[in-house]
Amino acid sequence: MSQTSFEIRQAAVIGAGTMGRGIVMCLANAGVSVQWVDNNPQMLEQALKAVTDTYAHNVRQGRIDQVEADARIARVSTAADYVAIRNVDLVIEAVYENLELKQKIFRELDGLLKPGALLASNTSALDIDAIAAATRRPAQVLGLHFFSPAHIMKLLEIVRGARTSPAVLEAALELGKRMGKVSVVSGNCHGFIGNRMLHPYVLEARKMLLEGAWPQQIDATLQGFGFAMGPFRMYDVVGIDLEWRARELAGKGQDAPEVQVDNRLCELGRFGQKSGNGYYHYEPGSRQAEHDPEVDALVLSVSEGLGFHRRDIGSEEILERCLLALVNEGAKILQEGIAESAHDIDQVYLNGYGFPAERGGPMAWADDQGLADIHKRLLALETRQGDQWRPAQLIGELAARGKGFYL
Ligand code: NAD
Repeated sequence: MSQTSFEIRQAAVIGAGTMGRGIVMCLANAGVSVQWVDNNPQMLEQALKAVTDTYAHNVRQGRIDQVEADARIARVSTAADYVAIRNVDLVIEAVYENLELKQKIFRELDGLLKPGALLASNTSALDIDAIAAATRRPAQVLGLHFFSPAHIMKLLEIVRGARTSPAVLEAALELGKRMGKVSVVSGNCHGFIGNRMLHPYVLEARKMLLEGAWPQQIDATLQGFGFAMGPFRMYDVVGIDLEWRARELAGKGQDAPEVQVDNRLCELGRFGQKSGNGYYHYEPGSRQAEHDPEVDALVLSVSEGLGFHRRDIGSEEILERCLLALVNEGAKILQEGIAESAHDIDQVYLNGYGFPAERGGPMAWADDQGLADIHKRLLALETRQGDQWRPAQLIGELAARGKGFYL
């Protein structure tokens, strides 16, 4: 082993919530021993039980045998404080999405861990460089962005900070391989590759609700295209309240017209599948999303209240706006060097966001359409709806040379 390579045998996970639980299982399944810390001992106890229950369930399903389950659970231990984890090779932090909290934890860990240890955050969107700046080892700080549920979802976004060293990225890719993940390296920007592209896609869906479409209609259209879930069904699964609370906490974004339907749903306690109601209704214990006329009435009242004159919106427009929003942002991500290739972007969308596999991902889909055609369609949207549709420079350049994102 050269001096600059990193081997990960022992890890620690900070945070025993939704993500921490899945991440601990990913590590234990890959043969890495894990120490687990949460500042809420009750949470840690519940989380350990949840992990044990998951392994027992896997045994009942015949997916692993009892010996394997015992070996996996034996790799997981809880720790009362950071001193107990000072010898680990890697820490993955998965506490609340708050920059100051993460910086505080990284600062403290930096003072305790051995010099060769790596520090990773599972943040969904925060600035990795700002987190790294809290330490004296920024070359050994990176993002390891797992997707929920982390032990099931294949995608791992490895976020490269400005100072993250190549050897650290290599160690992360190696760990990704051991965990059976599809790993994609992303540069550091708000939302990285996946969530940054998701933002304009969801924005279009939300705007169309106000202009005249219905949640079920938009979801059915995108699911008809082949998406595993439409955007509103996806929000029901993730929890509509997460972004609502984040906007509340940040003290901004709550007044935007596009989030008014979400706000009203959350004010009614309709947080999504977990609360039995969201954009859809769910019978107790069921994951079956049922159309709820009350939601249509709410959409109508919010949209009319905001002064929209509703119009019929067809499937063609829904697909055009949602898909071109994804492609245009993907092209910007590529031209900025946030993603290394169109293939990487497609891997993110195929393995983390339910994009239809047979279409190859948003960038491959755009190539199939032809970038000259995509460019023309973006210009048409720009004329009708404004600047946000200005085609990414890269699309214009590739189209002019008769090329695609891949070729
Ligand atoms: P969560 O609320 O389910 O869990 C957070 C845990 O952190 C809690 O158990 C809490 O007790 C613990 N905690 C808080 N402060 C702590 C501290 N100072 N020290 C130790 N433990 C502390 O959160 P989550 O959904 O698991 O999200 C965790 C991180 O993962 C966030 O940064 C989030 O943005 C990111 N993420 C979430 C998802 C998702 O779908 N939930 C997906 C990808 C990434």
